[in-house]
Amino acid sequence: MVSRVIPVDPFDLVIFGGTGDLARRKILPGLFRRYCAGQMPKDARVVGAARAEMDDADYRSMVGEAIVEFSVRSDVDQGKLTAFLENLSYVAIDARGENGWSELAQHMRRKVVRAFYFSVAPGLFGDLAERLNNHGLTDDDSRIVVEKPFGRDLSSARQLNQDLAAFFDEGQIYRIDHYLGKETVQNLMAVRFGNMLFEPLWNSQFVDHIQITVAETVGVGGRGEYYDKSGAMRDMVQNHLMQLLCLIAMEPPARFDPDAVRDEKLKVIRALEPVEPHHIVRGQYDADPTDPENLPNYRTAVENPTSKTESFIALKTHIANWRWAGTPFYLRTGKRLVARSSEISIVFKDTPHSIFGEEAGRHRNVLSIRLQPNEGIKLGVTIKEPGPGGMRLIDVPLDMTFADALGPDGAENVDAYERLIMDVIRGNQTLFMRGDEVEAAWAWTDPIIEGWTNRGDVPKPYDSHSAGPDAAAQLMRRDDRDWREVTP
Ligand code: NAD
Repeated sequence: MVSRVIPVDPFDLVIFGGTGDLARRKILPGLFRRYCAGQMPKDARVVGAARAEMDDADYRSMVGEAIVEFSVRSDVDQGKLTAFLENLSYVAIDARGENGWSELAQHMRRKVVRAFYFSVAPGLFGDLAERLNNHGLTDDDSRIVVEKPFGRDLSSARQLNQDLAAFFDEGQIYRIDHYLGKETVQNLMAVRFGNMLFEPLWNSQFVDHIQITVAETVGVGGRGEYYDKSGAMRDMVQNHLMQLLCLIAMEPPARFDPDAVRDEKLKVIRALEPVEPHHIVRGQYDADPTDPENLPNYRTAVENPTSKTESFIALKTHIANWRWAGTPFYLRTGKRLVARSSEISIVFKDTPHSIFGEEAGRHRNVLSIRLQPNEGIKLGVTIKEPGPGGMRLIDVPLDMTFADALGPDGAENVDAYERLIMDVIRGNQTLFMRGDEVEAAWAWTDPIIEGWTNRGDVPKPYDSHSAGPDAAAQLMRRDDRDWREVTP
């Protein structure tokens, strides 16, 4: 299957923080792949803007090395890489001062889409917005892209929204949550709203519960200082898991357009119930004595021997509306777990009566949507175990894994960043968070964090390479349910 690539309009993309980790690992390799795919027009220009002093040639060589290092495919086409790098230039700039701004203005062309990617610390968002405006670098059609973390609580998120709103309309602001750029996340919407099969069952009458797991094998790595001030709730739940929950739980939007989708997501966040303290389990990873790399435990990794920040969280919440009343949503995410795996599972209820008797056991349909690795969707159905010997039931997956169903080209793994950057140029905000959504998500998150802070809650230790603290399993077992296994 050959995928259709429609080139976007010519653009000037300025990457503030163009020498940083995110730009080198994700943004620039992503742009290169879109260039190779023929989606980035030949006259598109990319300007790196950051603090370091360097010229265009230095920047091109730095980006070239990054693309080779971080490309998903090992065989980078040198000819294409050289041609791509020709479109790059560099400006040394100070977000908080005047240095570099007039030079940047000289790089910008008229009559092309102008996009400004703020790949810098959020503390600089307001400074950049103000200087872009003061130096006349933007017009009504210019777009800005901002990275997470978008605030650390409701008041800081409000402040960031106000700082940006002083110079840009909401329709110009693209708040990235790269989970929304994943192929399977969009496929989730296609499966829900493109088929008659699922939507009639998509409610508390037929769904027993929903679980969302985002498990990482890595620890905090070099991000210890940032992470210890944040923790799994702020770093993962408030944004990524919340966005996934919204897409599962929202009502069908009238159209697949940005505000129709985001209005429905917002209603879900506003209907989330507060989380009871005994429905939250927080954990911190221990070192693994058998680990040949001898990686440190959480507190050593963040250099804070008394840290109370969680590297794992599991919680149960409810959505107070007609569709979902009584259906629990279980969320779980953590670092240094047994496998890297992100999965959403819709677990349907038991059949009302088993004609096969109790010995047939409990069989439930599960729709599992896998975001990484091996993106795909599987529906667990119950069938008869083949062969003689009576009626024994087994569960088998109806597999909609893209690589199998569509062939290797159909499953071409377009990285979330590639898709999202192209959406910015196309002016499509559907997969970006709106300001009111982010604020509503913090409004739900803040009291939970305040609650455990006021209680002096200390996270429970858990073994590295495990599924998290035992208490997380208990959270489910108390309800006569189980987490699905975390498998690679
Ligand atoms: P980084 O520290 O590697 O790079 C920061 C960049 O900002 C550098 O290019 C630096 O020159 C530039 N910069 C700093 N101060 C400046 C100033 N006063 N004026 C102009 N430029 C300045 O950071 P990063 O890891 O690339 O992250 C960038 C942003 O993206 C952060 O907000 C981070 O939280 C977010 N983010 C990063 C990742 C990731 O994987 N690295 C993932 C998600 C979100």
